Amino acid sequence: MQLYNLKHPSQQVSFSEAVLLGLGQDRGLFFPNEIPRLHNIDAILALPFVERSKLILGAWLADELGQEVVDQLVDHAFNFNVPLVHVDKQRMCLELFHGPTLAFKDFGARFMAQCVNHLAADKKLTILTATSGDTGAAVADAFYGLDNVNVVVLFPQGKISELQQKMFTTLGKNIHTLAVKSDFDACQDLVKHAFEDSQLRHDISLNSANSINISRLLAQICYYFEAVAQFKKVHDCDPVISVPSGNFGNLTAGLFAKAMGLPVNYFVAATNSNDTVPRYLVDGQWQPQRTVATMSNAMDVAEPSNWPRVEAIVAMMQWPKEVVRGVAVDEQQTRESLLQLAQIDYQSEPHAAVAAAGLAMCSKEGEYGLFLGTAHPAKFKDVVDRELAVNLALPKELAKVATKPCLAKVIDADFTPLRDYLYNGL
Ligand SMILES: *Cc1c(COP(=O)(O)O)cnc(C)c1O
Repeated sequence: MQLYNLKHPSQQVSFSEAVLLGLGQDRGLFFPNEIPRLHNIDAILALPFVERSKLILGAWLADELGQEVVDQLVDHAFNFNVPLVHVDKQRMCLELFHGPTLAFKDFGARFMAQCVNHLAADKKLTILTATSGDTGAAVADAFYGLDNVNVVVLFPQGKISELQQKMFTTLGKNIHTLAVKSDFDACQDLVKHAFEDSQLRHDISLNSANSINISRLLAQICYYFEAVAQFKKVHDCDPVISVPSGNFGNLTAGLFAKAMGLPVNYFVAATNSNDTVPRYLVDGQWQPQRTVATMSNAMDVAEPSNWPRVEAIVAMMQWPKEVVRGVAVDEQQTRESLLQLAQIDYQSEPHAAVAAAGLAMCSKEGEYGLFLGTAHPAKFKDVVDRELAVNLALPKELAKVATKPCLAKVIDADFTPLRDYLYNGL
């Protein structure tokens, strides 16, 4: 697999290089020269999830890694269920939260950890990643205990629920956590800044596990195929798929799936009040505003870093622009969506509720669709308990970290203390 830097097309890299570099020159995103096209989609959809995922990822990676290695990576990474459940007449939910840290980020993080472990071999690496919650947990869990990798997770202090934080700040060993006195965008900027420091990058072999890493995106393609495979058992049309979006990695993966030949009617890019993309899709003006804090805080992103990839896919495939429809769902609408889902006996959480509302707002009579359930409701227990007047039980994954002490260090949103920590604190 060959990729190029969207900012400097002359920078060409292999998949292995792209995984280990994360970003290209000038923070450019790596993008594949070609998107493999699958034929016989019906036969592919009939395969079981793991077998099908080997075939999908093999289409991208077998030329470089060999199919046997791809098979091993998939076997280790994808070891949990992906149910598509009935919600109401027009909507189903693909539940992506049955992995070890109860969010869809387990797919990307686990596959990436497998890739990095395979590609780095004996070399010592540092993974630096910013999180608004779920990435930190998924990456920390996926890399925990690997001797050749140090993980440093930055998160906005006070902007993530305590329980969420505990999923990654209580581990210790090779997992280091820093609470930054600012918001998620600032954390993301610090990561980008670190990548621009070529001396630092070289000295500690810096890598990022953010959704800018191509290995994460490729892994996520697999569950879109699973969604359509299960959907087609119930409906004979192509689904509308609503994606609760923050950094737009998830939507990017969905578009890759469609480009590979997966039948999808269109995508709904559902955001919360951080609505840079829905506004852009209406008036063509890219005008990020300040990040606002919402109930669906994993989507509190004003400058989604994967957006250039979305545009690159649409351009490459020459799709009409209606293939991605933007909807912004505000706090009141999110609340109503949560309540409405609970009334029809589907207990959800704010991110999925945004996607469910976006799907209802976009789809027309006669269209059927699904929204992505990106996190387990208990991960957002404080909001769900308050809004639905319930007291959710903690699943075992959360109960076991709830009483452990938080090991995070607090730093200012400034590059100097971060650089210092990376050189001297690990
Ligand atoms: C990360 C996350 C999102 C946003 O996904 P992107 O790929 O960044 O668009 C949505 N929901 C949850 C629960 C998340 O953790």
